[in-house]
Amino acid sequence: MVSLTIYDGASGIGGNKLYLEDGGRGVFLDFGKNFGKYGFFYEEFLKNRDTRGIHDLIHLDLLPKLNIYRPDLIPRDLDVRSYPALDVSAVLLSHAHMDHCGNVGTLRTDVPMVASPESIVIMKGMQDTVNASIEGDTAYFSSRIPSDEAGLYLSSDRKANHHGRDFCCTERPSEVLASFLSRKLGQDGRNAKKLEPGTCCCYDDAFFPFEISAHPVDHSIFGATAYILRGDIAVAYTGDFRLHGKNGDSTREFVKAAKEASVLITEGTRAGRSNSPDGETTSEESVCDVCRRTVEASSGLVIADFSARNFERLESFQEIAQKTGRELVVPAKDMYMLDALAAIGSAGVSESLRIYDEIGNVSRKWESEVVRPKYGDRYVDHAAIRNNLNNFILCFSFFDMKHLLDIKPDGGTYIYSACEAFNEEMEIDFVRLWHWLSRFNIIPAGFSVVKADGGKYNPSFEKQFHASGHASREDLAWVIDQIDPDRIVPIHTESREWFADRFDNVVLAEEGIPIEF
Ligand SMILES: [Zn+2]
Repeated sequence: MVSLTIYDGASGIGGNKLYLEDGGRGVFLDFGKNFGKYGFFYEEFLKNRDTRGIHDLIHLDLLPKLNIYRPDLIPRDLDVRSYPALDVSAVLLSHAHMDHCGNVGTLRTDVPMVASPESIVIMKGMQDTVNASIEGDTAYFSSRIPSDEAGLYLSSDRKANHHGRDFCCTERPSEVLASFLSRKLGQDGRNAKKLEPGTCCCYDDAFFPFEISAHPVDHSIFGATAYILRGDIAVAYTGDFRLHGKNGDSTREFVKAAKEASVLITEGTRAGRSNSPDGETTSEESVCDVCRRTVEASSGLVIADFSARNFERLESFQEIAQKTGRELVVPAKDMYMLDALAAIGSAGVSESLRIYDEIGNVSRKWESEVVRPKYGDRYVDHAAIRNNLNNFILCFSFFDMKHLLDIKPDGGTYIYSACEAFNEEMEIDFVRLWHWLSRFNIIPAGFSVVKADGGKYNPSFEKQFHASGHASREDLAWVIDQIDPDRIVPIHTESREWFADRFDNVVLAEEGIPIEF
């Protein structure tokens, strides 16, 4: 008998941790970080302490109380032996957004991850370029050891090498991928820790409690994958998906394949949201058009702000730059990732793509070992941009506004091409962003801020500048109708009632309570 236990992500957006079991053996579908729940307790200056391993996360119910975690992350004052020890054969990763992969680093090191080559590259690339944290330990990890007598304080073991997690790739892994996984930048230094890579096989060659097939789907990040698992019955898991992106056809292919599934576990991010008044979902193509027209009508510097890992949008802006006679300038970090994706054949790096030369960044290993040697002639600094403002589209976001103090533009356009603010902290950041832009006489497109009566500033957003990564309500209904499953399990949504009202075979899971099929 197949059973599904949703440990997290049943009734909110993100943090998916779904355990699917057959005959005592099982797999997790995603093991993500639940930003909403983290936000109940934490913010930028109050974070969970990596030096306490999983202690803080377990006590705040940010990780399920299970006995499945890395022993080196368990301090002596946390006893996990009474928690259920699930048999976890693998984590099947849908995509490399942190709300799907951000807690994988806490799992026992012998649990392999099934993932697409793009997801593997993005996770490793992200880990290479950000400061180490338990949440970021998706592709490799460095063991921790107690460094106080009581065994409560866990610090990184300076003598031990980094270890790579084992991967089961959804395509036969190329040599390029294997070699990308086998190096930690800076490891050639005399005292530097090396990376001992894990295994990287093809998932066809591995043994799981289910017969598993992986299906690419379209989402706002490369490499998104849906899965069909066949045991006693067939279960389809969508991960995050949409139909209105450039790869919408791959989602349609998955829908065809999923017709055999009797259980459909589907995301429903936009189930509660109506479309724009004219009923049209903004598509990736129409966003590209609107942004191109905005660039054409602009003079002076153009800044494009979109999610750093939305490579499809980045490709759109490469195209826009070419058509409008400008050069696209990306942060060095994005170039590092693009280079890795291009190496496995999953992204295009146009000849004219430039890299922003930040003042004072000399010690970043991924930059000095990869980006500078390969793309040294593509760097452009603040002075070169200032001298030829009409020549560039800069890929900056709010957090890069400090660089405007070096470039010192006067006028220009800021295109905001990402999701709307969905909480108060984000709204405050938009007001700050707006102040930065006003300071340099830059006109915002895609959002605006108005001062309401009483002096409060309110940001508002223009829908046509961003296409969501998620299927619209109408598309969700179409997908469900096509697959026509016996049972529908909505997840990753704040609107489960939309499913329950519309379909009569909806199962509303309670977190931690198994559903048997
Ligand atoms: Zn996602």
